[in-house]
Amino acid sequence: MWIPDSKWTQIELFRCKVRVDLETTRIGYKTRPLLFDKCGCLPCQNLAPQIDDLIPKEVQDELARLGIDHRKPDDATSIRYDDEIRYSLDYIARGRVLKHGHSGEPNFVNVNQNGPPSLNNEFRDRQIDVCFSFMAPWILDEPYPHNDPSRR
Ligand SMILES: [Zn+2]
Repeated sequence: MWIPDSKWTQIELFRCKVRVDLETTRIGYKTRPLLFDKCGCLPCQNLAPQIDDLIPKEVQDELARLGIDHRKPDDATSIRYDDEIRYSLDYIARGRVLKHGHSGEPNFVNVNQNGPPSLNNEFRDRQIDVCFSFMAPWILDEPYPHNDPSRR
């Protein structure tokens, strides 16, 4: 599909450079369900009430610059380490990565073209994957589903 140049916005973030179709990405996130509504698994339910606190404001702001709503990841995986859970959240935007990279410490945000096959393929050949990983406490009464890294 041909896109007029005026629809693309060049953005530098997380030490990367991307070209994004902001309008299409924003519309996609408006119509997408919240993580909590999309998946009923325990790791997602543990994350849902904490997501605004666990994702630093500066990461939320950078995701918003791409048209991404941080409460609506396309994929959420988790692994338990002792008393904490490591979550990796993937978000997609419509666009092209011009310069690959990652944010480095302390936030560990990775920006890549396409991303893992588990992702929604909504933006097809022009899809950017933004992956953010972080540690979180387990706040549910039920135990973490043992030995089974969760995939939504
Ligand atoms: Zn889930």
